[in-house]
Amino acid sequence: MGGRDRRELKRAVRDAERLRFVERMPFSSAMATNLFEALNAALGAQACRHNFVLTGRWCESQSVNVATVIAWLRSEGAGCDCEAFNVEERFTDAMKAF
Ligand SMILES: [Zn+2]
Repeated sequence: MGGRDRRELKRAVRDAERLRFVERMPFSSAMATNLFEALNAALGAQACRHNFVLTGRWCESQSVNVATVIAWLRSEGAGCDCEAFNVEERFTDAMKAF
C-alpha cells in the first residue's frame, strides 16, 4: 500500500469515528456547545464534586432528559462534570468532519 493510500485510509477511519460520535449525541451540536459552555462557566466558579450535579442542573434548565445525557457522557468516557471536557474535545474534533 502506498503512502497516499495509507493517508486516505487514515482519513476515512478518522471521519468514520467523527460520524459515529455525532450519531450518538443525544441532542444537536448547538445543545452540546451550550452544555459544555455551561459546565465551563460553572466549573470556573466551583470545583467539580466528581459527580454530574452540574450536568443535571443544565438538563433541568433545558428540559433535557438527565439520565439520557449522563448515560451518553459515561458512554463517551466521562465519569463526572469535569471529565465532560474530554468529551468536548472529541466533539470539537468531530465537528471538523462537517
Ligand atoms: Zn470531576
